[in-house]
Amino acid sequence: PFSGHFEIYRNIVVLLFYVVVWDCSRGRSSKWREMLRFPHISQCDELAKSIERDYYSLCVKQPIGKKLFKLFCESRQDLQNYMSLLDALHEQNCIQDLFSDPCSNVFRDCSEELHQYLSGEPFTQYQDSLYFDRFLQWKMLERSPITKHGFRQYRVLGKGGFGEVWACQVKATGMMYACKKLEKTHVKRRRGEAMALNEKKILEEVDSRFVVNLAYTYETKHFLCLVLTMMSGGDLKFHIYNVGEPGLDRDRVRLYAAEVCCGLMDLHEKSIIYRDLKPENILLDNSGHIRISDLGLAVKVSKGGTVKGRVGTLGYMAPEVISKKYYGTSADWWGLGCLIYEMTAGHPVFRAQGEHPQHREMENRIQRKQEDYNKKFVKSVKDLCSSLLIKDPEQRLGCGDSGGNAVRSHPFFYTINFRMLEAGLVEAPFQPDPRLVYCGDVQDIEEFSPVKGVSLDERDEEFYSMFNTGSVPISWQKEIIETNCFSELNVFGPMGSRTPDLDQ
Ligand code: ADP
Ligand code: MG
Ligand code: MG
Repeated sequence: PFSGHFEIYRNIVVLLFYVVVWDCSRGRSSKWREMLRFPHISQCDELAKSIERDYYSLCVKQPIGKKLFKLFCESRQDLQNYMSLLDALHEQNCIQDLFSDPCSNVFRDCSEELHQYLSGEPFTQYQDSLYFDRFLQWKMLERSPITKHGFRQYRVLGKGGFGEVWACQVKATGMMYACKKLEKTHVKRRRGEAMALNEKKILEEVDSRFVVNLAYTYETKHFLCLVLTMMSGGDLKFHIYNVGEPGLDRDRVRLYAAEVCCGLMDLHEKSIIYRDLKPENILLDNSGHIRISDLGLAVKVSKGGTVKGRVGTLGYMAPEVISKKYYGTSADWWGLGCLIYEMTAGHPVFRAQGEHPQHREMENRIQRKQEDYNKKFVKSVKDLCSSLLIKDPEQRLGCGDSGGNAVRSHPFFYTINFRMLEAGLVEAPFQPDPRLVYCGDVQDIEEFSPVKGVSLDERDEEFYSMFNTGSVPISWQKEIIETNCFSELNVFGPMGSRTPDLDQ
């Protein structure tokens, strides 16, 4: 009889072992279910009272909200068809029609009408359903305090002005991110508070496939931390100069330029001017697509507004920025011109490789000199660059009423289907090798330590509390869905009843 029991015990142990290994292999902690345990619904009362009952935010924009509203509709005979139609329209829009007519969004009106209907009676009923209760439970988890104990830290990815950037992983979900650490005393000594807060607020506001996303902010005793989309393929400066002959082949130039163009348009739509476009700020992910990163110099203006201020990196500054005039998004289109030029030529515009002209000389070249085009420039690239590098911002490509659409329509981009690109359905011509580290010597980067003689006080605490707001809702919800935690945890009991276990 003992040996019979032994078999059973052994099997249980083996099974448990596999469960643990399976979770760990995806990078999750073995305690992930506890970390993501739903609070009892009675603990969500406050949230239920305070949450804004906005259909668009709750049922369209927030990924988990959207999923639960969909589940609600599917559970109701009278609403099932609306949901399938909405899905079908979305699919049509993303895939098939893109090939035949990439420019028109034929289903938009129809989808809008569907949402109009769903935001009425169905939305009201949804808020009385167990699906909405579950949404509140997820929201409570989303709002849990964030500390360094929620992450595993791996290697240094790079170094910035106030600290290093580290590869890290969320223990509960296994998701990899890049953690940009700002050393508190360094920030204070160099009066970087406003800049850090500005970067955080702008990152939080943007939700673009072509801009690094912010997932969390938290603090430790010595650091403020921004947890960002992991970009493991290195920056474009490295790829232009350190891999083979200087410069990139045309298909890569085309894709990166198109993606930067989309990123800029997403920023400009929110009235954000980026102001720091240069190869080192464009990062590659492991699938070979790029994102704009380092939004420390970006600025939010009023709609269609302008700013003054000589910021950016001299070699990439637009003439109107150098001459201290007011400028708007034109500065970024100039920057795109510089970027496309450098990727193609294999050296920066107005500068030979390794040449470092004096400030004055550089300003003079930018404002007056006509750029040269070597034989690497075929007609369409040359034409695009020279339209983006027009000195007068009024005449420059991208600066008219149609904004970035004029850039997208340039012949150089004829082979790019922008709707496919925005839907993430285009394959990149170059994929970084996951075994390589695409950056300079990481060993050289030492740990930032606090500056002596700088003490932190209450005023600093005030700033830290504005900075540390925990999870960014849309990013957090995407993470939960992408890592399959949503599908594994969001179970309901038979006939839609709440299972006692999950409501604990
Ligand atoms: P700073 O604003 O201080 O210049 P950055 O945001 O440019 O800091 O980050 C410094 C360096 O860290 C970058 O040059 C890059 O090498 C690396 N890095 C920054 N963000 C990421 C990211 N999301 N993924 C991978 N590496 C990153
Ligand atoms: Mg930087
Ligand atoms: Mg910066």
